[in-house]
Amino acid sequence: MTGRVLLVGAGPGDPKLITIRGAEVLAEADVVVYDRLVAPRLLDLAPPAAERVYVGKEPGRAAMPQGEIEALLVERALAGSTVVRLKGGDPFVFGRGGEEVLACARGGVPCEVVPGISSAVAAPALAGIPVTHRGIARSFAVVTASTAHGDEEPDLGALAAAVDTLVILMAVGRLEEVCGALIAAGRPSVEPAAIVQWAGTPEQRVVLGTLDDLPGRARAATLGPPATLVVGTVAALPHELMATLATSPATRRSGSALVPPTAPGPSSDNDDGLERDVRGALGSGQR
Ligand code: SAH
Repeated sequence: MTGRVLLVGAGPGDPKLITIRGAEVLAEADVVVYDRLVAPRLLDLAPPAAERVYVGKEPGRAAMPQGEIEALLVERALAGSTVVRLKGGDPFVFGRGGEEVLACARGGVPCEVVPGISSAVAAPALAGIPVTHRGIARSFAVVTASTAHGDEEPDLGALAAAVDTLVILMAVGRLEEVCGALIAAGRPSVEPAAIVQWAGTPEQRVVLGTLDDLPGRARAATLGPPATLVVGTVAALPHELMATLATSPATRRSGSALVPPTAPGPSSDNDDGLERDVRGALGSGQR
């Protein structure tokens, strides 16, 4: 009998930010095919006997070509396996999830999508930056700065004029160019900007600045990928929101405490109790 493919969003960084449905289907997996930005501890939610296949991409280098990943998913499902394709954040936000769904359709394999929390909103949130804020920002756009895979240069000029908050993924290696392009497109050089590295992990670091000085500050702080750039007035809010958020019980529980700009990341308690919490959430803790 043909199996199926479940395209699951793992959420950003913190393994506890996967959805209940995501954890549920992981527990049913025969095969887990996972990416670089997936929290490693999530693999513990799959049965011990499940096959685990790493297909992650390093920046600028594909560990396994996309076509081979798609062939692997289809082949394993046709052989009868329940295949979980686990991707960082949400599978359809710069995750090539759409291509994998199409490959399943072409291969005659049933496919389900389990959305995930995208770093596009979670990385700012974990740094105390709301992408919209009443009276300050009524719109946001998510764009990639990457020109890998022969993609065209993103049209930052048009977006710069159209939306209040810009969330730019894959920008950390091109910060000078991206911030410069936004200034050239008319955003003020003193506009607040923030970059959040490894959001939701103990390596989370946030650098705050302006379009003008953020590239230099990020370089001085040796920030690297994965990181999310946020541009707009909301990027100045962490100063105000941090005190409130850092003491909220929800923030403490998730281990995602805010960090001051450029300070070392929180010492996370994420290693404790993931499976117990998931069992509790799934209602199987008493069995
Ligand atoms: N599908 C993913 C995005 C994949 S593109 C999602 O929805 O989150 C990969 C980019 O996402 C990275 O280059 C970085 O810009 C961003 N990103 C992913 N995980 C991140 C994290 N933990 N912290 C900050 N940015 C992250």
